[in-house]
Amino acid sequence: MRVFLQALGCRLNEAEIETWSRDCRARGYRLADAAERADLVVINTCAVTTESVRKSRQLIRRAQRANPHAKLVVSGCYASLPADRDGEQLGAELGVDLVVPNSDKDRLIGIAAERLDLPVMPELATEPGENALLARGRHRAFVKVQDGCRYRCAFCVVTQARGDERSRPVADVVDEVRRLHADGVNEVVLAGVHLGGYGSERASDLRSLITAVLADTDMPRVRLGSLEPWELPDGFWRLFDNPRLMPHLHLPIQSGADSVLRRMSRRCRSAEFRALVDAARATVADFNVTTDIIVGFPGESDAEWAETMAFADDLAFGHVHVFAYSPRSGTKAAAMPGQVDREVKRARSRQLHTLAAHSRRAVLSGFVDRTFDVLVEQRLDNGQWSGYTPNFLRVELTADSVDAAANRVVTVHTTAVSDDGGRLLAMPA
Ligand code: SF4
Repeated sequence: MRVFLQALGCRLNEAEIETWSRDCRARGYRLADAAERADLVVINTCAVTTESVRKSRQLIRRAQRANPHAKLVVSGCYASLPADRDGEQLGAELGVDLVVPNSDKDRLIGIAAERLDLPVMPELATEPGENALLARGRHRAFVKVQDGCRYRCAFCVVTQARGDERSRPVADVVDEVRRLHADGVNEVVLAGVHLGGYGSERASDLRSLITAVLADTDMPRVRLGSLEPWELPDGFWRLFDNPRLMPHLHLPIQSGADSVLRRMSRRCRSAEFRALVDAARATVADFNVTTDIIVGFPGESDAEWAETMAFADDLAFGHVHVFAYSPRSGTKAAAMPGQVDREVKRARSRQLHTLAAHSRRAVLSGFVDRTFDVLVEQRLDNGQWSGYTPNFLRVELTADSVDAAANRVVTVHTTAVSDDGGRLLAMPA
């Protein structure tokens, strides 16, 4: 999947392209250098002058001519104005596949993936450095500690593309974390294709690595990237006694139905996953768990889907990455019978998104009226600062007087959940 991103107009439009390119990479899409070489073209339009409107239309037409086979998504001010013209009308008028208004811009790649049924595969969310959950920036850096995977999950191409497991020596990782800290980074994410396999070929393990990073560096916040929910080393949960190891894990379950997990050749069943999460919640204060779920894996029946929904509901995830299954050539699943109809996948994805949003709101509600250290990351459109708690809950600092700035850690008191249910509102403590 290759994506060509193009912006017209202001610096904000350019910055959004930057965000979208990050989101694309997180989903495993490659960036193309021209519309002709892309499967998806995204144009961020401008409407500040009649000339910019003309140029926006011209860009859209040029992209259509250059590559009539590519899907075309349009956003930006020209695509959002005037208010009385809705996206569908504009889409039809310009012959584009999807119009994403400015209000939904920050989710553009996700919306395009869902609405246009673009291939999105979970293994790509585990790509080192590209975890869609965690943005990189001056405040946070990804440190790749491991590559490759010994498993053969039926949907996964990573295992073919990445080869055998290999890990970086502990001393190398420690050196890099020290350097990053010296450069002003306040949070690192230790990431790997199969992070739990760290050290398997060098008589070491993830626990030893984390212990060394915590002991031999002064990095204030250490996180773990996506981690497969099996073979965690003994004593793993006790590592979180150190408050510098952030109490959040992204553990991909992929399905709540054991029959589907078996077909996926996953090494973890729902009861084991549940036991893992129970152990984490019993041992680690404020533990937050997020996950990936594949919708519409081959043969997924209504009953299996119902099991997945019930499982997701029960587990109370802080966030669910929803992936509509799409076959990847060379994988076992691509040749499986019972490929699920795209309308069914769409309907199930919508159901799961709704459930996940309720679940997130419930999780956030449990953390109102609490005090947290928040790493301030960015300014929102409304001018407020936002960042994340140690357990990876998004926080918006509501006071104008907040003496915050990107990359500072501030202590805040949470007061409420935002109206959209997506973040905690907080005041300086
Ligand atoms: S554990 Fe499975 S999904 Fe994860 S990288 Fe290995 S083969 Fe892919």
